Amino acid sequence: MKLIAAFLASVAFAVPGFSAPAAHVDTVDPSVPTQLPRTAIPHHYAITVTPHAERLTFDGSVAIDLEVIKPTTQLVLNAAEMSISSARLEPAKGGAALIGHVTLDAKAETATLTFPRTLPTGSYRLTLAYAGKIHTQANGLFALDYKNAEGKDARSLFTQFEAADARRFFPGWDEPDYKATFDLTAQVPANTMAVGNMPAASTRALPDGLKEVRFQTTPTMSSYLLFFADGDFDRITKPAAGREVGIVMSRGNGPKGHLALDAEAEILPYYDQYFGTPYPLPKLDNVAGPGQSQFFGAMENWGAIFTFEYALLNDPAITSEAGRQSIFGVEAHEMAHQWFGDLVTMDWWGDIWLNEGFASWMANKATQHFHPEWGADIDHVAAREAAMGQDSFRSTHAVVQDVRTVEQANQAFDAISYSKGESVLSMLEGFAGPDVWRSGIQGYIKKHAYQNTKTEDLWNAMESVGAKGLGTIARDFTTQPGIPLIQVGASQCVGGNTVATLSQSQFSSDQRSQVEARPLAWHVPVRASAGGAASQVVTQGPTTQVQVAGCGPLLINAGQTGYYRTLYQPIQAQALERAFAGLSPVDQYGVMSDQLALSNTGYQPMAVGLDFLSEIPANANSKLVQAAVRQWSSLYDSLESDPAAQSAIVNRVIKVYGPRMQQLGFAPRAGEPAVDALLRSTLISTLGKFKDPAVVAEAKRLFAEWQTNSDAIPGSLKETWLGVVARNADESQWNAIHAKAQAAAGSVERTSLYQLLGATDDDKLARRALDLALTDEPGKTTSAGIITQVAGGHHRMAVDFVLAHLAQVNQLVDISGRSRFMQRLAGGSNDASLIPTLETYANANLATSDRKPVDQAIDRIRFEAGKLPRVRSETAAWLQAHPA
Ligand SMILES: [Zn+2]
Repeated sequence: MKLIAAFLASVAFAVPGFSAPAAHVDTVDPSVPTQLPRTAIPHHYAITVTPHAERLTFDGSVAIDLEVIKPTTQLVLNAAEMSISSARLEPAKGGAALIGHVTLDAKAETATLTFPRTLPTGSYRLTLAYAGKIHTQANGLFALDYKNAEGKDARSLFTQFEAADARRFFPGWDEPDYKATFDLTAQVPANTMAVGNMPAASTRALPDGLKEVRFQTTPTMSSYLLFFADGDFDRITKPAAGREVGIVMSRGNGPKGHLALDAEAEILPYYDQYFGTPYPLPKLDNVAGPGQSQFFGAMENWGAIFTFEYALLNDPAITSEAGRQSIFGVEAHEMAHQWFGDLVTMDWWGDIWLNEGFASWMANKATQHFHPEWGADIDHVAAREAAMGQDSFRSTHAVVQDVRTVEQANQAFDAISYSKGESVLSMLEGFAGPDVWRSGIQGYIKKHAYQNTKTEDLWNAMESVGAKGLGTIARDFTTQPGIPLIQVGASQCVGGNTVATLSQSQFSSDQRSQVEARPLAWHVPVRASAGGAASQVVTQGPTTQVQVAGCGPLLINAGQTGYYRTLYQPIQAQALERAFAGLSPVDQYGVMSDQLALSNTGYQPMAVGLDFLSEIPANANSKLVQAAVRQWSSLYDSLESDPAAQSAIVNRVIKVYGPRMQQLGFAPRAGEPAVDALLRSTLISTLGKFKDPAVVAEAKRLFAEWQTNSDAIPGSLKETWLGVVARNADESQWNAIHAKAQAAAGSVERTSLYQLLGATDDDKLARRALDLALTDEPGKTTSAGIITQVAGGHHRMAVDFVLAHLAQVNQLVDISGRSRFMQRLAGGSNDASLIPTLETYANANLATSDRKPVDQAIDRIRFEAGKLPRVRSETAAWLQAHPA
């Protein structure tokens, strides 16, 4: 591999004529929701953009080859935050051009072009000249500012279009079903590097220190996948299976890109093979941008993935082991989209889970394949738990959603689309078997390449390769919300087999009696074991018999791929607990999480869940110990009014897991298992939160040394140790972190240090952090991160602050994420007094159709507050009865 300064080739470039749509007019599926009248269909866009980075504006022109499919006097297309100075329509077969009168509708985000006479059906070229705005958050064309290698202020430009922000970059049919080809031309400073979906076709010098870069024509694709970036970049490359993979980053950061580049090069051929259709573009870049969004880390633009630096670059000064693993995972996710999403695209945002659930599932598969030592099978179960955390409330929704507005499309990117999607796909793969499943995926990709699909197309592809019965299960889990509850009846040993009756209802955190009276019904594939081989049965109706080889403890959901909760008889739970040490780590993790969730929601006493939690010894699988320590930490938070119970938890964690901390040591060890490095970080954070004297003393020692020696804290533990310091900081320590943030060289480290200022337990310092967030000092994309940090320990303070400065805070958050920012700040709280505050906020600021995230936060706060008395008293009693 080699580092090159520019990658623009000078290849002769033929300006395309009118594309020839007559042969196959895609009439666009009339059942797909749309905000645009179905009168015309675009086939090809030729866009020229001239950014004025210093003024945060750009000029653009676009020539759209389109087909009018219904006679009309008007063409309506998407356009937002732009002015259109001319609209000219030429019939393809020749004849006089028509000039359109332009009316913009800011609310609908449309431009209506009215022509002096009716346009007959047929082919046209529509040419528009326009001017738009460069944003400072990740919407449309946006700028990210940073200090360059020489410490000077620098600015790079990037685009972010999903779900509906391409319309801020060019006027067009900005809905995923309107696929077209794109020619992008950019007029940029001669000394910068421009990046597009495709390699450059040609570049030529322009007057005034500019150059013009023309990119090759893209394949047919949706508008949200178009990409453009321009900046003072380096690009490193590697060949991979006949294509070129590359990482693009601000100049001087090349060495930090090699981890990601190597991962990209190994994942590409693996995906070629898995999908059975090779990656169709000549190159695949992953472009790093300094800064962050509160809502996404990376975006799968076809051929030019965008990823924020912290999620792509491996910086020895700040990247943790978790960060390094996440670089692989994020890249594997975005690369899976190059097929699932880019080559085959959902026809409307209601099916966004097809993209996100699949990419999440596929990234986990790639991680397990290349890094079995990372324990990613447990991450699958963690995804199930994350999904159920949203799916057990009345405000949840089905995987396949009803999306009508742009805001609803933005909100569709949530734990249901990603994590429930991933979990349901795991369950279905388990049902079909990995070989049948994969051949179904391959058939689906082949059949629908360059086109759009609905969820149903995937089930049809699976059934057509032999996954009989899969569609019934899949439809139950994707078209209805919620979680099945499997209750195990008394089990018997009959002739060496365990026989039990499973009753099925629905699990709920906040409407248990309603769902018990009228539960939804699912066909649930249940895998069970009892000491012998596991067997599988699909539930039919309210009760189902299961017969399993062996008469050992009965384990339901063996392997943990099922998306349901399991309520055992007390005697069965006790038997399973006694056999717990013999279960696989993934089953241990799944059973412990499942049983704690049932205890937390009141389906069974807290003691059952706590008994399982206490079964995880210090020498267990590192990921399990991590999970156990986190569970205790969250119970500690619930017991805030009971210092005696809290110190019982502290004593227990220190006594049980302290030896593991000692064994791991406070510093990373060369060649140690990656999961041990993760566990070390979790133990330091949690023991630091519990003010364990040894951990606090080491944090103080490292912090003092770091004042004079920047290398005193190992980079991979910097956020961990400084997190302990920041949480317990006094004013002078807080000031010292602030000074280090101001002086930090790398943008990732700088952002991280600024955010730590919000992680303080101290009210007065938390207020200072909030005030700092509203100044220009931290930087445009850092400030919202500080507010989010403050919310972690001071929900009420952060929410009140944001409400008092709403207009200012809105400028610090992506447009597409604003309605979710309040959910992010308040959703983790158990303070019921926030509920009326959130109601008032939603009534004043959100349309009825767009309040789902706030409703979800309210449901969760109500549940957390409501369960506290029972959880506190039962947990305190259990702790007393079970001294560590
Ligand atoms: Zn994704």
